[in-house]
Amino acid sequence: MNEEERFIKKLTPKSADFSRWYVEIIRKAELADYAPMKGMMVIRPYGYAIWENIQQLMDKRIKAAGHTNAYFPLFIPESYLEKEAEHVEGFAPEVAWVTQGGTEELKERLAVRPTSEAIICSMYSKWIKSWRDLPLLINQWANIVRWEKVTRPFLRTTEFLWQEGHTAHETYEEAQEETLMILSLYKEFVEQDLAIAVISGKKTEREKFAGALETYAIEALMSDGKALQMGTSHNLGQHFSKVFNIRFEDRNQNLQYVWQTSWGVSTRLIGAVIMAHGDDSGLRFPPRIAPFQVVIVPIAVGNWKENILPHAEAVNMKLKDEGVRTKLDSREEFTPGWKFSEWEMRGVPLRIEIGPRDIEAGQVLTIRRDTGRKESIDLNLVNKRIPEILNEIQHSMLEESLRFQKENTCEVFSYDDLNDTIKSKKGFVKAFWCGNQACEDKIKEETMLTIRVVPLNEKKREIDGKCICCREKAKNIVYFARAY
Ligand SMILES: [Zn+2]
Repeated sequence: MNEEERFIKKLTPKSADFSRWYVEIIRKAELADYAPMKGMMVIRPYGYAIWENIQQLMDKRIKAAGHTNAYFPLFIPESYLEKEAEHVEGFAPEVAWVTQGGTEELKERLAVRPTSEAIICSMYSKWIKSWRDLPLLINQWANIVRWEKVTRPFLRTTEFLWQEGHTAHETYEEAQEETLMILSLYKEFVEQDLAIAVISGKKTEREKFAGALETYAIEALMSDGKALQMGTSHNLGQHFSKVFNIRFEDRNQNLQYVWQTSWGVSTRLIGAVIMAHGDDSGLRFPPRIAPFQVVIVPIAVGNWKENILPHAEAVNMKLKDEGVRTKLDSREEFTPGWKFSEWEMRGVPLRIEIGPRDIEAGQVLTIRRDTGRKESIDLNLVNKRIPEILNEIQHSMLEESLRFQKENTCEVFSYDDLNDTIKSKKGFVKAFWCGNQACEDKIKEETMLTIRVVPLNEKKREIDGKCICCREKAKNIVYFARAY
């Protein structure tokens, strides 16, 4: 066994044990580590760099859609959280409470925010007076605490990072338009920047956000065939404006309650990238969010520090000038073979090798992480060709994900059909549903499948069928899946 093989051997193959592979790769690639407190994680620099890239790309999109950032307090007084009944009931089991400040017991408990509707709405009621103050479009980047019983790094942790948008509007229609605009903004972000195919649609009553009128979500298939909810957008209606008294004078001088939305994506997206793109050798990052887009490995033979390293440094500078995130691995204690498998495991999209023969030929060798495809590039064309290859990788990773989604989505027309299908297949199951929660509950109990979304664009004539559970007339075509 050579040292490269030994290195990879330490990682459980994804195909052998998906959940073990998942926790192993996170620690081996130094994305995150377990903290001393149960259910909490430390995001290490390599993992945090992904979050910073996600933040930057997402922040640009949110701002381009007219929103500005602000920051609200971490603590929420108990009486505020209690105002919206459904909201408090939904979050009660997972709220962390502060009961003491210094040595003094607090008169009123403070919740560590499980989400910020309560505190933000209390401020909006002060700020919004007239239709001229609307729409109010604010986003916050923050940490959130939810006391989870079962945790898994990036997917479900007691504390996590996210962005939460909170908007207020004059009419229901405007709030609905905002809710759906954000849903498609999220879909575009995940497909274009994370290269993961998603389906989008409405959540059922059972699955919606506590306190919302309607919840919409984007969902993606992970490579084990289970679905992951990757972002949600809620039309809050007037539930919160009524209890927090957020009123405005409308264009006819009548007092009205505002219509609101809220929406968020979190560090869970990093978990999605790991699970959707990883393979037996480790991570595969799409270039747009990769901490390093290119790793340059000089081949250490002979007098390499004098003959090869300067060329590697020159290539590195050229690429940095083009805005490419590079890593020049000139460590002496590891062989090139060791470095190849390490950066492969850590998901760097493109590797450049420079050896004596390359220099003689005036070229470098590139190897794509996603396909393993090799290409020699003229040294003079490196700054032009490398960014092109990165773009090609980004696109072909999305293509691959779209193909995977298509291949792992099937349609069923009866309950027997459904039971047969899930015996042999994973992924999304498209089926007719009557809209009745009793059928949804029964299917969940018997098959562990939940309705991930009710797609929005299905045409009336396509919904001409019978509910797979009760055989009554169907109201919707829905996507079922087992989910994280
Ligand atoms: Zn039914």
